[in-house]
Parts: sequence; C-alpha cells; structure tokens
Amino acid sequence: MDKACLNGSDVVKMMQQAAADIKAQEAYLSDLDQALGDGDHGHNIAAGFQLLTVQLEPLVDQTPAEILKIAGRTLQNEMGGASGSIFGSFFKGCAKGVIDLEVLEVEHLPQLLESGLALVEKRGKAVAGDKTLVDSLIPALVAAHSAANEPNSLVTTLQKIALAAQQGAEATAEMEAKKGRAKFLGARSIGHQDAGATSMSIILTAWAKAVREV
Ligand code: ADP
Ligand code: MG
Repeated sequence: MDKACLNGSDVVKMMQQAAADIKAQEAYLSDLDQALGDGDHGHNIAAGFQLLTVQLEPLVDQTPAEILKIAGRTLQNEMGGASGSIFGSFFKGCAKGVIDLEVLEVEHLPQLLESGLALVEKRGKAVAGDKTLVDSLIPALVAAHSAANEPNSLVTTLQKIALAAQQGAEATAEMEAKKGRAKFLGARSIGHQDAGATSMSIILTAWAKAVREV
C-alpha cells in the first residue's frame, strides 16, 4: 500500500524502526568511531534511541512535530557524546519545519529536512566536506527537493532521500575531518567513513522502510 500522509502514529513507528536498525548496527557504528574518535558512538546512539522508543510509545495521538520535538529533546538531554546534542538538534529542527501540521505529506519533506539541517549547522558549525553527519544530510535534502519537483509518492521520495544519505555517508570516507575528535587525525582521517553520517543514513533508511510497511 502506498501511504499519502503520515500522522503521529506513523512518525512513532518511523522512530521505532530507526531505533531497531541503529541497535542492529551498534557494534559497526562504534567500530567506525574507534577508527576516528573514541569508539563510543554506537553505544551513545543506541542507548539514546532505546530511551526514545519507550518515551514515544504513549504519544501516538500527538502531531508529528510534537513527537519529533520530544525525540530531539530526549536525545539532547540523555544521549552521550558530542553527537547527542547534534542529533537532538536535528529532530528539534525537523519539528520546527513542520510545526502545526496534523499530517506530513510528500511536499513537506524538504522543509522538514531543511529545518533539521539548519539547526544542526547552527549547533555544530560544520559545513559540507567537514566529514560529519552534515555530509549525509545535505545530499538527503537535495534529493528531497528534486523528488518533490516530480510526481513522486511519499515512499519513493523517502527511498530517494535514504539512498542519497547512504551515498553521502559513504563519501565521507574520502574526506579529511575538520570537526569533532576526528579532526585531530588530520589527513590520517582519510580512508574511514564517519560514524555520525552513517547513523544519519541508517535513520533515514529506517524511515523509508517503516513507511513502506505501515
Ligand atoms: P564524541 O565525538 O563526543 O565521542 P560521538 O562519538 O557520539 O561523540 O559522535 C561522533 C560523531 O558526531 C561524528 O562521527 C560526527 O558525525 C558528529 N559530529 C562531531 N562534531 C560535529 C559537529 N561539529 N557538527 C556535526 N556533527 C558532528
Ligand atoms: Mg565518539
């Protein structure tokens, strides 16, 4: 079935799918962070999302923005590492982009991601090419805009966003880190994929997967 819009209950399912897929990749994410940082990223984000699944369960009747806002606040307050505040900012920003909407439709996806990216940039000051999760989000936003210009379904658009995010995360391998712990490695950071960008691509892929199944 091809869904045309997402209500709060759908958004909770999307976040639960993200939590499950992050949990499944926890060791891999920590391995990536081990090569460039201190090896805690998988644990940080898996624990943060585990907490989210519990907190979001009773919120199915809330608006998508309310759910995304609470998700952002929880990660900001409870998730460890520098990336807790960055991922928290992302979901808070997503919420701001779709404030007051009862349901999300395909045309709202660019504004949701645009606002999420804006808050991430404001919080972490990373720009394109710095080898952070911004390098997964920027291609995802570009894909959202171009998909929105064509008659694409919600699921197809989410799949295009996910693919772009994955390619963006893979492309971080060739970048030299300019932010976070990885920047201390300088040129030695080249050759390793960024953990935060990989988590972002797992989350956006989980969203597409969840919407295909609801
Ligand atoms: P810590 O670096 O405190 O151990 P994590 O290991 O959980 O935190 O997260 C590391 C990830 O955070 C990196 O892979 C990168 O994607 C992201 N990150 C670090 N600094 C920034 C920043 N200034 N802006 C955006 N993302 C960042
Ligand atoms: Mg770390």
